[in-house]
Amino acid sequence: MEYRELRPRAPMPEFDIRFRRFTSLNTTIRLREGKLQVRLSDLLETAPENMHHAIAHILIAKLYKKPISRAHNDRYRRYVSSETVSKQSEQIRQQRGRKRLLPPKGHFYDLEEVFDKLNHQFFHGLLGQPVLTWSGHHARRLLGHYDAAHNTIVVSRVFDRVDVPRYAIEYLLYHEMLHLKHPVKVKNGRRCVHPREFQAEERLFPQLAEAKAFLKHL
Ligand SMILES: [Zn+2]
Repeated sequence: MEYRELRPRAPMPEFDIRFRRFTSLNTTIRLREGKLQVRLSDLLETAPENMHHAIAHILIAKLYKKPISRAHNDRYRRYVSSETVSKQSEQIRQQRGRKRLLPPKGHFYDLEEVFDKLNHQFFHGLLGQPVLTWSGHHARRLLGHYDAAHNTIVVSRVFDRVDVPRYAIEYLLYHEMLHLKHPVKVKNGRRCVHPREFQAEERLFPQLAEAKAFLKHL
C-alpha cells in the first residue's frame, strides 16, 4: 500500500520482511535482485498496525529518495520515544549487550525451536516469546526460571545434552512458559507462585510423570 502511494506507476516488487533480534530499533531496507529486503528490530513486531504502515512508508520513501510524509514521520517518532518502547529497548539492550546472554541455540537443543513447538501445542501460538537463554554454568539446583522483570526464561545448560530426553526439556520449558502466562498471585499477603490454574494446565503435559522423575535424578 505504502509502495503504491510513493510509486504509483512502478511494478510492485516482491517483499521479504523479517524481524531480527537487533539491540536497537534498527531498521534497514535494501533492493536486492528486484526484491525489497526489509529488516526490522523484533522490538517493533508488537507495534500497532498503523506503526507498521508508517515504518513501511518511511523506508520506501528513503529507498527511492522521495519526501517522507510528515504524519507518518511524527507517528513513528512519537511511538519509538514513548515510554514503554524506550524502556523495553533499553532493557533488551542491557540483556543482549552488556550481559551477553548465551544465544537460544545450544549445542543440542534450540530453545527457540522448543518454545515454538510448545507455544503451538499448548497456547495456540499466542504466548509472546520472551528472551530465551541458557545459564552460563551447568546448574543442577536451579534448572530453570522465568525472570519477569527482564522477561527472560533461563534454562540450565545441563539440559543441552544428547542424553537428555526431549520430553524433559519440553516439560521444563513448558513449566516456565506457564509462569509467563500466570503471573505470581498475592493472596492474603502470601505469594502464590503456582496457583491452581497453573497446576491444572501443567497436568496437560503428556509425559509429566516421566519428566518429573527424570528431573529428580538429574
Ligand atoms: Zn515454578
